[in-house]
Formats: sequence, C-alpha cells, structure tokens
Amino acid sequence: MQTNDKPASSADKMEKIVSLCKRRGFVFPGSEIYGGLQGFYDFGPLGVEMKNNLKQLWWQWMTREHENIVGLDGAIITNPKVWEASGHVKSFVDPLVECKKCHHRFKADDILVEKCPDCYGELTEPRIYNILVPTELGVIEGDKTRSYLRGEACQTIYLDYKNVLSSTRGLKIPFGICQIGKAFRNEVTPGNFLFRQREFEQWDLQWFCHESEMDKWFEFWKNERMNWYKSIFTHPENLGFYEHEKLAHYAKKAFDIEYTASPVGKEMEGIHWRGDWDLSNHAKFSGEDLSYFDAEKNEKFIPQIVETSGGVDRTFLFLMLDAYTEEEDRIVLKLNYKIAPYQVAVFPLLANKPELVAKAREIYNNLKKEFNVAWDERGNIGKRYYSQDEIGTPFCVTVDFETLEDKMVTVRNRDTMQQERVEINELKKYLFNSLKF
Ligand code: ATP
Repeated sequence: MQTNDKPASSADKMEKIVSLCKRRGFVFPGSEIYGGLQGFYDFGPLGVEMKNNLKQLWWQWMTREHENIVGLDGAIITNPKVWEASGHVKSFVDPLVECKKCHHRFKADDILVEKCPDCYGELTEPRIYNILVPTELGVIEGDKTRSYLRGEACQTIYLDYKNVLSSTRGLKIPFGICQIGKAFRNEVTPGNFLFRQREFEQWDLQWFCHESEMDKWFEFWKNERMNWYKSIFTHPENLGFYEHEKLAHYAKKAFDIEYTASPVGKEMEGIHWRGDWDLSNHAKFSGEDLSYFDAEKNEKFIPQIVETSGGVDRTFLFLMLDAYTEEEDRIVLKLNYKIAPYQVAVFPLLANKPELVAKAREIYNNLKKEFNVAWDERGNIGKRYYSQDEIGTPFCVTVDFETLEDKMVTVRNRDTMQQERVEINELKKYLFNSLKF
C-alpha cells in the first residue's frame, strides 16, 4: 500500500464513486433518457465485468470449495401462494410507518410517538402497503392472475429442496443449496445509489441441518462468510458484525456482516437462524410432506436452516468505496485483482508506429483467452496509466522499440507503480503468478 494514501471523507467518497461509476461505465442510472426511475440501475461495460467476477468468486467458494453444497437458479415468479406461506403477503397489509433513517418498519398502531424507537429518525405517514412487487399473468383483461416478483431469492430454494435431494446422489444432511438471483422490493424510500434499490441481486445459502447442530453450524457460517468478505476487501478492518437484539419469533440469533466505513447503511449480509419455520409453513400451505428421513438414525424430521443472505449490489458498492484511493497525482481503485474489470492492459508505445501496434496486438490476442484484457493506444503512456488506475487494472504491458530487439515488454504494477522488463514468452506465467490465479 502506498504511504501517500489520502482517504477522502466518506460522504464525499460516495459522490465521487457515483460519478466515477457513470463516467467510466460501471453503473448508469436506469432509464436515464426518460428522466430515470428511482431505485433502478444498469451495470455498464466495466460494471458487468466486475459484477460477473464477483459472482464467480462467490460461486467458486460456496459451491465448489464446500463439499455438500449445490446450486440452483429458480424462477423469479412463483405461485402466489409462496408469498402467503412465507408471510410476505400478510405482514404488509397493515398500516405501517417506516423510519426514513434506518428503514425499520412498525405497525402504525404500536407507535405512539413521531420518532423511530430504534434510532429516533423521522417516520413516514402510516400507509397500507405491500413491499412485494405485484405482476399479472394471463392475456385476457379481467381474467388475469395476480402474482409477485420474488421479494427474496431464497424462497425457491425451499420449494425445490426435495427435488434437489432426490436428484443429487449422495446428498445428505447437513447440506446446502446456493443461489444468486434477482429480488424485487417496493422499498418505501429507495436511494443511496446501489444501497437501497427496488431491483437488486442477492446471493444466498440455505444450510439444512439437524436441530441439535444449529448452534455449531450458525457459528461456522457466520465466521466462514466473514472470512470470505475479508478475503476480497482492500481494507478488511472495515468489516464487522452487528448482532440483532430484536429477533423473529423463530430465530435464536441473527447477525449482519457490515461494511462499517459506509457513509450510508452498513448491512451487507444477514446470517439468519430460520429454524424449521420456512419448510414447516410451506408444508402447511402446500400440503406436501417436506420432512427429511435420516436412514442411518432412522429419524424423520423437518430440517432446520441457517441462512446467509447477502446483497451483490451492496457488496459491489462497498468494494468500490473501499478500493477508492486518491494519491498525489492519481486516483486508483485498489480492487482485489480477481474482481477488477480488467486484469491487464496492453499498449503500443506509439499508435502511429505499425510495427509496435502489430506486436502489441499479437500480445493482446494471445492474452485475451486467459485474462480480461484492455487495449489502449490513445494519448501518451502517462494518460493511459492514469486511466487504467482509475478503473483498477492491476497490470499494464507496454510494447516499445526495445521490445522488437530484446523480445521483452515493460510491465507496470498498479499499486506499487513499479515497472519491470518481462520476456514475452514468460508474460503469461508472470501474470498468472502475480494475479494469483
Ligand atoms: P434492510 O434492513 O437494509 O432493508 P433486509 O434486512 O431487509 O435489509 P434481507 O432481507 O436480509 O435484507 O436481504 C439480504 C440482503 O439483501 C441484505 O443484507 C442486503 O445486502 C440485500 N438487500 C436487501 N434489500 C436491498 C435493497 N433494497 N437494495 C439492495 N440490496 C438489498
């Protein structure tokens, strides 16, 4: 890390991140040419690369590096009964007030004062509302079925848990099902950029186990998920746990993993004790037997669940805030190498020298199968370095006149700004080692 790092104030930083995201093609406001639509964003060319890298890392760690975890990609629209069973339809038909600051919601009848009991923030007017986003299925007007876009991605995991068990050889308790997918909420106060959107992406694990092992697995997943986040943040010391005091009736404990340096809300992921609440309710509403039979112990029971449910977009935002660094004469995104949109950039020293361009193209074409590679031949080298630093590209490779003689290129490191000469033949190996792929 450079000693001349100058952390910007956090509110300032948020504005800078929003502006950088738009200017460099990470995130655009949704429907902008029509004046926008609050709570919706589009990920641009660099944003989609970064988000895909992030999701791939999560998937690799969760499903491939943990035995007994498999994946799922469930439908966004489900039978509307799902949301009755989950409690989402019923719990949002009462008049509610929402705190504009911490977003906790309270039944209007229970609130006797005008301030939030949790943080003393201002409360909204009481409203009857439902946080689910409704949609209608069918083509005949007057004969359409109301359904909902899913309010949380995890529900399809409960619906498919028996299908997963019966179709996956050797899967037995304890086991997990993972999913990355979109969720939709009619948030009362969308805002703070990617932090509170109406359409967002979640990564979830539902871990199915026996009641007697819930404490053990809760602790395991709480620590495991924190370790994963620590492995991808530039400043892991900015991560912490928040323990919930108010718990759902079925929960024994609940923790959030927080990005404590956030200028807006801090919650990034919830570690939830869901007990057998979800499966029991779905069994009740669907009439299906959702119990599990343990042949070794000759025991039949409804599995208990530890859930880890995190926000992909919030993680994206927090990673950007955490990586953003202003130095004397440059802005640098010190993103984890595996998450940066490009891993390497290739430049010919001069764009008007065909022999340099041809050699640089050859190197670019050779690298692009293994790495995400940027090409830049505009402006001078200094400007190109500046531009790549600002989007977090870990390595820049320059082809100069000497390259044509000694078959070596200059490789410049984003964080140290040091340059070394590397043989073209050794370049891939050098990058694999440096990027720790
Ligand atoms: P909050 O209290 O901030 O509304 P929540 O506790 O309702 O969040 P969960 O239902 O536990 O959130 O969802 C799991 C994760 O999904 C959250 O930790 C967060 O990262 C993400 N998430 C939830 N709501 C939003 C949203 N409106 N926009 C972006 N991400 C969200």
